Amino acid sequence: MLGVGYGYWTLTYAIAFLTRSMLSNSGSLSEVVMGGSSAGGGSAGLTSCARVLIRGGADEGTGEVLSARVVAERAGWCAALAQEMTAGLLAGHWNPEDVRALASGLDAAGRALPTQAWMALRRLGWGAAPPEGVHVNDRVARMAQEQAGRLLRSAAWRDALTAGVLAAWPQGDPAKRSPAEWDAVRAAVPGGERMPSPVIRSRTRQVQAFEKGHGRLPADVFELERPPGAGALLLLSACDKQEAVIERYATEPGRALLRVKLPSRPDPRSHRDWSWVRALLVLPPTVPPGAALHLPALRIVKGKLRAEVPFTRAVPPARRSGHQVALGVDWGISTLLSAGAAVLGPDGTITAGGAGAQFRAAGVLAKLGRLRRQGEWLHAKIGHCERLGGGNPGHPLAGKTAVLRAEAERVASRRSNLNDALAWSAARWTVDQAIAAGASVIYLEDFRSLEARSMGKTLNTRLSQSVRGKIAVRTRYLAAKEGIAVVTVPPRGTSRNCPACLAALRHRKAPDRPGEAGWKWAACPGCGWQGDRDHGAWMRIAARGLAHQDKTVTDRESGAMAVGAVDEAIEARAVAAPYASPGDRSKTGPTPRRKKKSRPAPRDPLPGQATWPGRPASGGARQHGPGPAAPRSGPGPRRDHDQHPQPAQAPGTRGGTRRRVPPRRPRHPAAWDGPQPGTHVR
Ligand SMILES: [Zn+2]
Repeated sequence: MLGVGYGYWTLTYAIAFLTRSMLSNSGSLSEVVMGGSSAGGGSAGLTSCARVLIRGGADEGTGEVLSARVVAERAGWCAALAQEMTAGLLAGHWNPEDVRALASGLDAAGRALPTQAWMALRRLGWGAAPPEGVHVNDRVARMAQEQAGRLLRSAAWRDALTAGVLAAWPQGDPAKRSPAEWDAVRAAVPGGERMPSPVIRSRTRQVQAFEKGHGRLPADVFELERPPGAGALLLLSACDKQEAVIERYATEPGRALLRVKLPSRPDPRSHRDWSWVRALLVLPPTVPPGAALHLPALRIVKGKLRAEVPFTRAVPPARRSGHQVALGVDWGISTLLSAGAAVLGPDGTITAGGAGAQFRAAGVLAKLGRLRRQGEWLHAKIGHCERLGGGNPGHPLAGKTAVLRAEAERVASRRSNLNDALAWSAARWTVDQAIAAGASVIYLEDFRSLEARSMGKTLNTRLSQSVRGKIAVRTRYLAAKEGIAVVTVPPRGTSRNCPACLAALRHRKAPDRPGEAGWKWAACPGCGWQGDRDHGAWMRIAARGLAHQDKTVTDRESGAMAVGAVDEAIEARAVAAPYASPGDRSKTGPTPRRKKKSRPAPRDPLPGQATWPGRPASGGARQHGPGPAAPRSGPGPRRDHDQHPQPAQAPGTRGGTRRRVPPRRPRHPAAWDGPQPGTHVR
């Protein structure tokens, strides 16, 4: 009920606002200016997308106020027309010749094709015809061509990938390629060296399924896949002022006005059936006031009209080299990420800037594992019911199957939401570590070459490659806002060699955790360095990155920076001296007693505000809260050996004896209002 009331309030407010600005038509135009300024000198532009729900609008021709449902319906009619035209284009050009002609980037006369998809299609002479007897603006045809062009261009990549996978089809079981066969398939696929392995694996499975059904391998992707489906969306970015305009209110930078020409009936007969509709966009606070807005894509999701508004903001440019302070990030084994800063001195020596920190998400990873098992169990049960039912919709098990399907869908979306939240949280943590250390670059271990190694298997059981890809993408995005470069470095030997002298390390059980499984601790027989193996790995990555920074290359298409290969001569210099405390910490007498710090006593909540946020009576149980937003970061207070990293401790396990534990309080808010029947209140 509350939600409905709020939505209604927003809608009425939006309509009142629209009507007011619509009535004073000339006045409203003067207070509206084009949003944002262009990116200034010495700065780069970062484009992101904000989703805005359209809660209503107004017809400029009749002056009628339109509800959200009506605006969505009218946009839906226009989208359906564009969709039909797109589907026609896709069906007509879904063949190797046309897709390769578009992908070649050259027209018949050898001139370069325009980058905008609709312009490229026009140059090739691929027109989009509206349905019989329907009048559409040329801009609607442009939107159809834009969508078809984008889909056909992305198909060119799948075409090349399929051709590569087919050319290097393994002799034995395609699901179990040997390292040599992996090298062969990566060489056959364009950009295969750096391609995530799940992409090649899923394409292999697709080809296998075709082979099972047809008894032979497919010739190309056009045999393997049907033409891509056209979506019901309006790509307004392909239009000009005759179809759509977006403007930001100068007085209120959080609001923008979208004007778009929409049909007033599903089958518009003439230009009189098209009219301008204006809608107010309330921008989310993530859109900064100075950002330039671009024409959005309109999409209908569950009967509601959503605008996906791209915006460009000016960000400080990220440098490729010339870095002094770097953050090294390692994909850990039991911890998700280990990171720490390294400093490049004026004489070329590299020193670790501290003991580093770890991002642990054991709770979330366990939850993800439980959800995965639950999903597998549900799918097994669905398969069983289907076999028993034999595909008969009247079978008594059909209802049960539908319930199981809905449940499996919910489990899948819960997993995907949790993966998303985990990726954002890990990326935010990484960039915050870099900001705190004053680093201008983040060196990230390139996880894509972990393929076909035991390391990959171990990590795979905990976290899928796609989540790690998401963390990398989001780290790049968040770092770009701060002008911090993100560079991937080859992971070879990062946990095998000593960060201080590059000798081979010996792995053993951690001295403080003798009961724990695995070989978490690394010790150098050469120089005596020892520490957590993840700790050594981030030191190695940071040192490798700083030493190789002049070898950093930028990918022309994606703009991603990477150190391509390890240079042995440079690598010999990529040693990081462990962090040493500047003062002499050797003992000369008894340790002085530390002054007890007084902590303010917890205040009683105000009456009616009974929020005592679920504080546990003893420490330790705190980390089991829901959601991934509880990374344990930072080393605990260090007391002894500086070169020994101290993994983050659960609050309360260390120094917990000095901490004043607040008295136990009733948690239920009702208990604050006075004595309840049957409740004992002290
Ligand atoms: Zn060593």
